[in-house]
Amino acid sequence: TMAHSKALLVLENFIGGKFVTCSSYIDSYNPSTGDVYCRVPDSGKEEVEAAVKAAKDAFPIWSSKSPLERSRILNKLADLIEHDLEAFAQAESKDQGKTITFARTVDIPRAVYNFRFFASSILHHTTECTEMATMGCVHYTSRAPVGVAGLISPWNLPLYLLTWKIAPAVACGNTVVAKPSEMTSVTAWMMCKLLEKAGVPHGVVNVVFGTGAKTGEALVCHPDVPLISFTGSTLTAQRIMEKSAPYCKRLSLELGGKNPAIIFDDADLIQCIPMTLRSSFANQGEICLCTSRIFVQRGIYSEFLKRFVAEAKKWKVGNPSDPTVDVGALISEEHLEKVRSYVKKAQAEGARVLCGEGVDSLTLPAGNQKGYFMLPTVIAEVKDESCCMQEEIFGPVTCVVAFDTEEEVIKRANSVKYGLAATVWSSNVGRVHRVAQRLQAGLVWTNCWLVRDLNLPFGGMKASGIGREGAKDSYEFFTEVKTITIKH
Ligand code: NAD
Repeated sequence: TMAHSKALLVLENFIGGKFVTCSSYIDSYNPSTGDVYCRVPDSGKEEVEAAVKAAKDAFPIWSSKSPLERSRILNKLADLIEHDLEAFAQAESKDQGKTITFARTVDIPRAVYNFRFFASSILHHTTECTEMATMGCVHYTSRAPVGVAGLISPWNLPLYLLTWKIAPAVACGNTVVAKPSEMTSVTAWMMCKLLEKAGVPHGVVNVVFGTGAKTGEALVCHPDVPLISFTGSTLTAQRIMEKSAPYCKRLSLELGGKNPAIIFDDADLIQCIPMTLRSSFANQGEICLCTSRIFVQRGIYSEFLKRFVAEAKKWKVGNPSDPTVDVGALISEEHLEKVRSYVKKAQAEGARVLCGEGVDSLTLPAGNQKGYFMLPTVIAEVKDESCCMQEEIFGPVTCVVAFDTEEEVIKRANSVKYGLAATVWSSNVGRVHRVAQRLQAGLVWTNCWLVRDLNLPFGGMKASGIGREGAKDSYEFFTEVKTITIKH
């Protein structure tokens, strides 16, 4: 109705320092109510073309600024986002379905930190130099920004993951065209409103909103975008590789996971249980690093399961804006159905659902009856070959199985196509090292989870990605290196 549509939030693309309307729009839902509350530009080739042109035009000036000048601007932007932290957190929670608590304590603080971190790290890089005295030569490397970077991000950690790409790209002197997920575009649009005040010159950061198939592909196929940094699913990454192959683009791909937690019988369960609940269910289980296969050594298996399930049942599901709620809404109705279907498949295969979906009843506040909610779900006695143990579910579902030996569990943990993250719980330091060395995962956390030092590489093995991001890795990705030889 007209009355309804008047109340909708309408986003605009941000191109060359200006907000511009689009000829068509798509609906964006509030996952906690099921209502359409926002309209997102349905950008296509034309909008992408304009954004790439603006980024190209801005490149000569931005790339010739000193790292210190760029650093000052990024720090200013970090301050401005931090100043509006509460507004950003509210918006992220409403748009994505995540709890306000998670948005306040994780998403937005990290978006701020991403800018601060790269504003600092850009000042500390050095290049290499070697001497070849017998030839009368010195060699040195020089690094320069590449040009217009295409940045494509997913819906689970919207501003957090988008800024994890924008910050290093522009810190290194590139200009960017960013495309957030069409399902979670609001905070990126809010950030655009702060760019001018931070001193980001027009055209350095452009944001085009829209779907992957239309906007994303137009960016991937644009000949003047030599580099694409993508975070999302493995399937989409394959498509991006195909589409960008004719242009030989440089790609960074951060993809899905099927992350194991390995819990030995000497683990400190007081620490391990609450942390494994978090690693399974934080952000509704919609984090690429979430645990979804828990291997527990036989001696403590039933004890672990009993305590884990009892704690899982205490996680409160409900209105994401209620600060006492632990689990918000899943991103969409389709996604909720997909996650639920995995639980049904597990049941059909003879696995036991110990709590959550299909077992316990979920009562929701009156205003959230049409939201996409689901209880934290624990499944036991699942076969390793089962789709629940092989495929990324990306929801609040975790599988618990028993193992006997170290050798056996390493093999089973590695027996999936993914290789993003793993956790190992044991008080035996030797064992922790041995197991960590042999796991096929880009990140291994022992006796903890999600503790990150942004200086160090982040990324996955196998189907979990190509390339790494981090202080040095992002610098290398977003710059082109040249080796120069000087003979006297
Ligand atoms: P997705 O692959 O569907 O979409 C990601 C982004 O790509 C969106 O912006 C989407 O619009 C765009 N896109 C889709 N099709 C495209 C195409 N053909 N060309 C160009 N762009 C296209 O993923 P999602 O559902 O938004 O996110 C969930 C996935 O992301 C999960 O698999 C999760 O594990 C993964 N993820 C990985 C990391 C990591 O760092 N490794 C972090 C978060 C999420």
